[in-house]
Amino acid sequence: MYDVLVIGGGPSGLMASVSAAQHGAKVLLIDKGDKLGRKLAISGGGRCNVTNRMERKTLIEHIPGNGKFMHSPFSVFDNEDIISFFESLGIALKEEDHGRMFPITDKAKTVVEALLNKVRTLGVEIRTNTTVKDISFENGSVKEVLLNNNKSIPTKKIIIATGGKSVPHTGSTGDAYPWAKKAGHTITELYPTEVPITSNEPFIKEKLLQGLSLRAIKLSVINPKGKTIISHEGDLLFTHFGISGPAALRCSQFVVKALKKFKTNQVEMSIDLFPHQHKEELFQDILHIVKENPKKSFRNGIKAYLPDRILDYMFTRLSFEPSIAANQVPHEQIRNLISCFKDFTFTVNGTLSIEKAFVTGGGVSVKEVEPKSMHSRKQNGLYFCGEVLDIHGYTGGYNITCAFSTGYSAGKAAAESLNNH
Ligand SMILES: Cc1cc2nc3c(=O)[nH]c(=O)nc-3n(C[C@H](O)[C@H](O)[C@H](O)COP(=O)(O)OP(=O)(O)OC[C@H]3O[C@@H](n4cnc5c(N)ncnc54)[C@H](O)[C@@H]3O)c2cc1C
Repeated sequence: MYDVLVIGGGPSGLMASVSAAQHGAKVLLIDKGDKLGRKLAISGGGRCNVTNRMERKTLIEHIPGNGKFMHSPFSVFDNEDIISFFESLGIALKEEDHGRMFPITDKAKTVVEALLNKVRTLGVEIRTNTTVKDISFENGSVKEVLLNNNKSIPTKKIIIATGGKSVPHTGSTGDAYPWAKKAGHTITELYPTEVPITSNEPFIKEKLLQGLSLRAIKLSVINPKGKTIISHEGDLLFTHFGISGPAALRCSQFVVKALKKFKTNQVEMSIDLFPHQHKEELFQDILHIVKENPKKSFRNGIKAYLPDRILDYMFTRLSFEPSIAANQVPHEQIRNLISCFKDFTFTVNGTLSIEKAFVTGGGVSVKEVEPKSMHSRKQNGLYFCGEVLDIHGYTGGYNITCAFSTGYSAGKAAAESLNNH
């Protein structure tokens, strides 16, 4: 009989297998795909964003979905442990912007292969192309897993590492939620997070700004009373259906939640194109340009401020005559334009689907899982790790860090508990 059966060979399941085997367990790793680590291989734009080097507090702040729960698994295995782990496998990592860590090869393959080699070296048995259909329990403890071909495999411990529901072609199809429910667990509502946002605004529908990217802007989600719910700085991309890019992805879950909370079918968002300059500063700068070139067209005078397409769109929005000479523009109109620079508002009505999201929000409630061991509070011998849990972070290595950390913690605890019986 296997000591530990790990279902799912993503980052959480691979690390759970490594850790269980390192702690002396006889491990079987099952995955329904023909390859392991398929989502890991496409993370970070195919370069594999292994982890993030931020300090603990910042790390947790970047995990809006139950980040505080991560204090315990991080006390067992954290981002620095992940870095040391890969370095011990001969995979040198480099730090990029915002603490993001990548292999120096810039190839996800390097990371996935190193993990797989480690799993094999530790004697973990791997079965790919093997789908788990169900798991069964007896007297409050796990008993066996049932495969799609109706064969069953008895085991002492089960670690569920099946991921969420996003990007299903990588194998993450939400199979484990019914098993967890059957085990007595609560599944909190699932929703797309880190997902592009949709808008019915005419300028979006007419594709006026499609393909335009804005650098280092501040994007905010506004509640129906006009208060800012959340702001994120970063890059933004206008698409044919709405907005995408890092700032939009980070704001997306707050759009989903606001639509639900306020029972509305649209919420307002705002872009501050100059987050580090005050309105008055911009006004004085533009006045200076006007004074230097009074006869020149105002539009040409300020063209360095923004990409042509968005500047032209703002001119149209404000019914601003583009050819007007700089010294003919009333100050109030300049101030209106600056308000548009600092508070470019538009409505959004939702996001792309959970399948198209980078990450699944919601999942197995963390209230019913022991935070240090990832052990179920409902069934003996049952453990959860990775995105199947109600834990989610921003993109930037935070989700993968949670997957490795919870995976390592689960594997260690499952193996160690064998010795206690
Ligand atoms: C395009 C993309 C880019 C991303 N980039 C980043 C990033 O830059 N930073 C970041 O932090 N996160 C990123 N993420 C998210 C991150 O990749 C995931 O959070 C992470 O892979 C989750 O790991 P996991 O082990 O929980 O699950 P997964 O990686 O989803 O693995 C689950 C595994 O379980 C297997 N499985 C499922 N059901 C069964 C079953 N019934 N029987 C057998 N096997 C089963 C699947 O085949 C799969 O191999 C990205 C995601 C995507 C889609």
